[in-house]
Amino acid sequence: MPFASLGLVDDLARTVAARGYTTPTPIQSQAIPVILAGRDLLAAAQTGTGKTAAFTLPLLQRLQTRPETRMPAGRPRALVLAPTRELAAQVADSVRVYGHHVAPRTALVVGGVSMKPQLDALRRGVDVLVATPGRLLDHLSQKTVSLAGVEILVLDEADRMLDLGFLPAIRRLLALLPRQRQTLLFSATFADPIRQLAGDFLREPVVIDVAPRNAPADLVEQQVHPVEQTDKAALLGRLLSAGERDATLVFTRTKHGADRLSRQLERDGIRTAALHGNKSQSARTRALDDFKQGRIQVLVATDIAARGLDIVQLPRVVNYELPHVPEDYVHRIGRTGRAGRAGLAISLVSEDEMSRLHAIQRLLGRKLPSSVVEGFEPSVAKRSRAPVAVASAGARHHHAHRAAGAAPTGERSAAHRPARPETAAHDASRRRNKAHHQTRRVATTGDRA
Ligand code: AMP
Repeated sequence: MPFASLGLVDDLARTVAARGYTTPTPIQSQAIPVILAGRDLLAAAQTGTGKTAAFTLPLLQRLQTRPETRMPAGRPRALVLAPTRELAAQVADSVRVYGHHVAPRTALVVGGVSMKPQLDALRRGVDVLVATPGRLLDHLSQKTVSLAGVEILVLDEADRMLDLGFLPAIRRLLALLPRQRQTLLFSATFADPIRQLAGDFLREPVVIDVAPRNAPADLVEQQVHPVEQTDKAALLGRLLSAGERDATLVFTRTKHGADRLSRQLERDGIRTAALHGNKSQSARTRALDDFKQGRIQVLVATDIAARGLDIVQLPRVVNYELPHVPEDYVHRIGRTGRAGRAGLAISLVSEDEMSRLHAIQRLLGRKLPSSVVEGFEPSVAKRSRAPVAVASAGARHHHAHRAAGAAPTGERSAAHRPARPETAAHDASRRRNKAHHQTRRVATTGDRA
């Protein structure tokens, strides 16, 4: 289906064409006509599905085709709420990009930066205000903004806003909006709290679910490497130095862990920056910019800092540690394989994280392919002296398969079950060739990524 059949005005259709989008994504083809018709919308769409354009384009069109007398200063006609500064900044950029020929007055209101430029922007007059809830409430308490003229409200990544404890803030904000308005709620999942939020604030919404709940993008190949906790940094260094040296987003659980790992990778000669909530906004912006521009290879981030990041052509995500909340795994790996591109998501899993891995697999409804990297066998494997095979060079999936009963995790398809016992000679010859295999295996892993 071409964009032309969605009913977008020429000014917007031209921008879409200039961006090189030829076909609408599923969320776009389903949501744009609904929003243009003025209906409320409850949409399950993960980041990476093209959801920003799905609400921005029709939102701009509705503002354009229903021109109000220019609103007084500080009274936006559309409000987009987002969970993080980074996501809000990206949405504001998208509004500017998609609105190139429509020229909406746009303001970004987020915490962690000076109020002054935000006050100036609000004073100049705003059509589309993109904000994080906390800073918007600050402005409201100072009466530098009024929500009384909002015609369209977008709650972007509503599930993340709830995860981050923004529900009371959202309720306070919604109480300040006119009842007569259009509300669009986007969330990665339709968990109960989201349904409740929708029930309270949406009017007979059209419901769209473009991705099966909690299903990561099909284009992301997932791989688990069981490894000792103490060997993780060395294994990561190896994976990062191999092959094409692809841009990689690495997740740690803690800010401290992100800093420590980032320093270690730098010592290993890998250009790295850390992104987390303790960094100043300018440091976060710089790190993200350096990463997007390819000046650093690796961004080490915590879950919260990485929410909503849209980095096109991010080929690889590494879970240095698995998240506590299984749903975060889906969010993390959704950073790669975006907008139709293939991606690789690697998880380094130590013995004490097995219960987390099982929880993730339960959520996904399947086991993830698991392989031990030669030279990084977990001690369970070392003790049992289980032989570790190396996948043939050039194979797409490089699973190293171990003798039955020795694998700490992962699925073993019938084809991979050791059909004949490994002989001592075979084992010895493998040990002799270990260095060679190791190089080849790492190289192939890198080539793949
Ligand atoms: P989002 O889900 O809004 O974060 O978008 C993910 C990425 O997809 C962004 O980098 C967009 O520029 C890109 N994108 C959005 N719509 C399309 C489309 N119709 N065709 C190709 N790329 C798109």
